[in-house]
Amino acid sequence: MEIDFLLIGQGLAGTALGYRLKQRGYSIKIMDTPADNQSSRVAAGLFNPVTGRKMVKTWNADLLFPEIIPFYSELEQLTEQQFLTIQSIYRPFLSVEEQNEWMGHSADEAFQPYLKAIVQESQSEYLQDPYGGVYLKNSGWLDIVSFLDAMKGYFGEDLILRKFTEEQFRLENGKWTDGEIVTGNLIFCSGVKAMETRFFSELPFAPVKGEILEVRQDFTPDYIVNRGVFRVPLSEGLHRVGSTYTWHDLDQGPTERAKKELTERLASLVKLPVEKYVSHKTGIRPATKDRKPFLGKHPDHPNVYLFDGFGAKGVSLIPYFSKIMMHHLVDQSPIPSDVDIARYFDYI
Ligand SMILES: Cc1cc2nc3c(=O)[nH]c(=O)nc-3n(C[C@H](O)[C@H](O)[C@H](O)COP(=O)(O)OP(=O)(O)OC[C@H]3O[C@@H](n4cnc5c(N)ncnc54)[C@H](O)[C@@H]3O)c2cc1C
Repeated sequence: MEIDFLLIGQGLAGTALGYRLKQRGYSIKIMDTPADNQSSRVAAGLFNPVTGRKMVKTWNADLLFPEIIPFYSELEQLTEQQFLTIQSIYRPFLSVEEQNEWMGHSADEAFQPYLKAIVQESQSEYLQDPYGGVYLKNSGWLDIVSFLDAMKGYFGEDLILRKFTEEQFRLENGKWTDGEIVTGNLIFCSGVKAMETRFFSELPFAPVKGEILEVRQDFTPDYIVNRGVFRVPLSEGLHRVGSTYTWHDLDQGPTERAKKELTERLASLVKLPVEKYVSHKTGIRPATKDRKPFLGKHPDHPNVYLFDGFGAKGVSLIPYFSKIMMHHLVDQSPIPSDVDIARYFDYI
């Protein structure tokens, strides 16, 4: 069986890139072991254009954000399933100074695509928001598990539920083969597992563990609340709360320390107690030292590529960068130098 591209991993990255390559008429297969998924199947799926303690536009927001809603909506139509929720994020102010600063932003052209409203009064008796806050737009969340499962149906027999092992594949006449599949190109979309391949083990990955809860709380507004922690309404009374960030204890499962941290942060945002903890999950984000994705071709091994390193922001980065990667693979268009893995291989 001869194909153009073999992708390793059907997380967010492999799913989006596989779709784009198929759309262009190329033959693909994706190998995946869903039970080993480290990140996509745990993630909250938020896309948030204004982030961080200082609330600045997220890196490349004006390139990335116009792609997000059209991309996932297109795939909803394709699969006839619903997995995208376009929803405002409400961020309470901590002080009058912050309120004033945001009143200033309201006239700023650069913030217009992302600013829905600024309010100066508390929005609910259940919120800790005495100074009001800002409602963002062009935001929301992707139900990633439903998305990946819906896309499994789209890929059909092109998805092989099997572990890819390097020992099984060898290079013959410029193509990679295990005796059964023959492919022109190998593309690693394997999240943190790419660190374990001989091809990419030298790249500066910086995996980050995250813990996330589902809790019951009897206050369900039609917006996400976000300050120090996010709370995403899933259904009446049920909310996703996250996430923590740690660079150690990567192998440990759920910890009491993280549960306590998330519960305390939630209490500083929502005045109601947690009625019930419904779930507590952990995952490892495929982050990188310079916080930029890893796209590109291995300098020595023929036709071996990487599409990875999407860290804490896969949902917002992948629609745009899967397009860049697809054009690189099929049209030989250049990859922006700040995300090209050549930025590291030049020094190795
Ligand atoms: C707690 C938590 C919260 C998060 N919240 C958000 C959020 O709100 N918004 C956001 O945008 N991002 C969030 N993220 C980050 C997001 O999950 C990642 O950016 C994204 O999912 C990475 O996708 P990926 O496809 O690169 O990697 P992965 O999801 O890890 O997928 C890689 C796939 O490759 C497969 N694989 C690996 N090796 C092999 C092999 N040898 N053979 C076969 N298959 C293989 C794995 O099984 C897996 O299915 C969060 C992450 C965590 C942990």
